[in-house]
Amino acid sequence: MRAARPAFRDELGGLIRTGAADDHGVLAVGMMRSYGDSCLNGDGSVIEMSGLDHLISFDRQTGVIKAEAGVTLDEILRVAIPAGYFLPVTPGTKFVTLGGALANDVHGKNHHHAGTFGRWVRQFTLARTDGSERVVGRDDTSGLFAATIGGLGLTGVITRVTLELMPIASSRIDLQTVPFGKLSEFFSLAAESEPSHDYTVAWIDCLAQGSKLGRGIFTRARHSLDGELRVSDKKGPSIPVEAPGFLLNRLSLAAFNEAYYRIAGRPRATSSCYDPFFYPLDAIGGWNRLYGRLGFYQYQSVVPAAVAEVATTAMLQTIAAAGQGSFLAVLKTFGDVPSPGLLSFPMQGTTLALDFANRGRSTLSLLDKLDAIVREAGGRLYPAKDGRLPPAMFRAGYRALDQFTPHMDPGLSSTFWRRMQL
Ligand SMILES: Cc1cc2nc3c(=O)[nH]c(=O)nc-3n(C[C@H](O)[C@H](O)[C@H](O)COP(=O)(O)OP(=O)(O)OC[C@H]3O[C@@H](n4cnc5c(N)ncnc54)[C@H](O)[C@@H]3O)c2cc1C
Repeated sequence: MRAARPAFRDELGGLIRTGAADDHGVLAVGMMRSYGDSCLNGDGSVIEMSGLDHLISFDRQTGVIKAEAGVTLDEILRVAIPAGYFLPVTPGTKFVTLGGALANDVHGKNHHHAGTFGRWVRQFTLARTDGSERVVGRDDTSGLFAATIGGLGLTGVITRVTLELMPIASSRIDLQTVPFGKLSEFFSLAAESEPSHDYTVAWIDCLAQGSKLGRGIFTRARHSLDGELRVSDKKGPSIPVEAPGFLLNRLSLAAFNEAYYRIAGRPRATSSCYDPFFYPLDAIGGWNRLYGRLGFYQYQSVVPAAVAEVATTAMLQTIAAAGQGSFLAVLKTFGDVPSPGLLSFPMQGTTLALDFANRGRSTLSLLDKLDAIVREAGGRLYPAKDGRLPPAMFRAGYRALDQFTPHMDPGLSSTFWRRMQL
């Protein structure tokens, strides 16, 4: 994979042209925080957009910000918070670019209110490999707006984004944690909390079995109504080397989960800086090294609301029986706000995100079993978190693929996309 990182906008046209002439075309990438191969272009070229990171304008009256696509959410927060604004939707890391957030139509803990990132995008500029450049807005009737949001970077290179920010009175967050003993309680807590709380999410103990199956800790939160407007600069420890493989075995995970459920799960109401609430992993440099040299698979699914409890129970039973749980097991309901992108991942239902240490065949066989449950339930997997999704499952989960493909730019490609064509 050949990579270039332009620092000036006028370098971009030439890089797109030469990259597109490559056998495997070219792909624009952001901070490469996607877990799998959707931000890779093996044997082809990539253009790292993170050098094109200028803020173009910010209207403090309306909260509308325009910036180059390589600007990160972290950089947006540094400007937005002191002016009383926050990101309308943010993923669990702030080290992603506007272009990457748009191309994956990312979601956050407030999906039930705010929907996905793309809903807050007013317009973007798209450079195509034929040399054309187009400004595409919500009023677009060609289908290119809907194809590019969640379009995995395959419709053109996003060069600028105009985004609506959300007003806040404080950068602090009021949050409550509530332990729950079984899965049905998670669904009751979500239904009870969503009308009154901006953010809801749950950690789930995916090694618990029998009467404890589906237990976890529910967090509900909203922006504080008064207090400071302060940008956080906190940094935590770093993981200096790959952890030894035995660290994350069944026993250590079970012990961790038990202790976490007991200690962190005590019901409490507190106020927190926004940073540890939204971005806990950003504070731990090199957190992925905890999984050792063989790394890990992230697996994020969504299943429709009508079958969410049955399907999630089946997934948790399968994971517990395999003894390969993860400590980062996150459960969240997606609301009924429609996603604007043809290939957007979120749909109304329940999403489960898991990290599995890579134990080779046994891990892949567990993931195949989870695939079968998700497919049967009419759900799908998130390409941003994927390195192994079977192409047939991709086609079954993303029904608007036929509408999407006519908008693809023939000079662009990715390892993920080629894998989906097999
Ligand atoms: C700790 C952690 C937590 C996360 N939590 C969440 C979460 O809660 N919700 C969620 O939705 N995601 C989450 N993610 C995934 C992450 O938000 C997405 O993968 C995001 O798209 C990464 O952005 P990036 O700038 O790193 O883009 P990359 O990973 O580099 O690229 C992502 C996609 O965008 C395309 N792209 C990037 N820039 C451009 C551009 N300028 N023009 C055209 N295409 C472009 C790429 O081709 C690729 O297809 C998380 C990731 C991590 C590491």
